[in-house]
Amino acid sequence: MVFIKFIVLLLVFLLLVGTGVLALIFRVLARLAAPADKGNAARGAGAETPPARGGRHGYASPEAEAETMLCCAHCGLYVPESQGVRAHDAFFCSELHRREHQA
Ligand SMILES: [Zn+2]
Repeated sequence: MVFIKFIVLLLVFLLLVGTGVLALIFRVLARLAAPADKGNAARGAGAETPPARGGRHGYASPEAEAETMLCCAHCGLYVPESQGVRAHDAFFCSELHRREHQA
């Protein structure tokens, strides 16, 4: 029974490794195929354009973009969740607004 378990584990392992290797091969092939296209050869570096996003130069990292924006209960400003202040069930854009709201 242990032998069967081992075989199953081996098969799963081979499957995972196989898919990983296949993905790698396809990636290499895609890279090799790209320069062969004469039209795109000149702008080879440009072909790999970074994803067009609003904030470049590190202003908005992918993590920041994925973050949820919450509305300040005091002034109504939308602020990333990590930059705001949470108090009980309400959310505030700053510590000041949290204090002003609860005063
Ligand atoms: Zn506010």
